[in-house]
Amino acid sequence: MSKRPVLIFDFGNVVAHFDFTLSCERFGRPLGLSGADFLAKARAQGFVEVLKVYERGGMSSADFHRQLCNVTGAVVGYDEFATGWGDIFTPNESVHRLILDLKKRGYRLFLGSNTNELHALHFRRQFETLLDQFDGLVLSYEVSHLKPDAGFYLACVEAAGQPANECVFIDDVLENVEGAKQTGLIGLHYRDTAGLIDDLARIGVQVSDTLLVPETINPTAVG
Ligand SMILES: [Mg+2]
Repeated sequence: MSKRPVLIFDFGNVVAHFDFTLSCERFGRPLGLSGADFLAKARAQGFVEVLKVYERGGMSSADFHRQLCNVTGAVVGYDEFATGWGDIFTPNESVHRLILDLKKRGYRLFLGSNTNELHALHFRRQFETLLDQFDGLVLSYEVSHLKPDAGFYLACVEAAGQPANECVFIDDVLENVEGAKQTGLIGLHYRDTAGLIDDLARIGVQVSDTLLVPETINPTAVG
């Protein structure tokens, strides 16, 4: 690699963990349905395809709310829906530390996420300080492409402003890593943060030794 690579991080289950069943439980409860039953009902009504259209930017949040209520029988106002749908994320702390370290070392960082407007509104607020470290966010509903379609990765390359072979795409879903590779990017499969740090070292991206210290040892907590 001639130039220092750009690092592009997936969001869900890399930068932050998420639990989609929380939304299903919230919407299912008033109907007397478990989260799993609510999800099964939504799936049986073609929800997966509807979500893809929404995450590709082909449907407004208001229309998505209406459609989900129509197909599941959920009775929930828009504002309550927006919160119940959006509030599903928890930080992946070790990746947060890695991102801060990489930023300090001068790496340019981008987010590359299949997501939708309501999730993005929520996580951009929740993780505002961390996301400020990024040089740009490539969000499927804004670029009208979903991973693993080539168009998504090309949008990342364009945002990064460097050739594809100088862009590293980090994702927990193998299919999305393969999509990145097929589009000419360097793909890294995220399984855990220690493994990612090893993979980054292999392509010449070094991080601070302190990141390798086990999380239980906290030097500020002495005494
Ligand atoms: Mg993911």
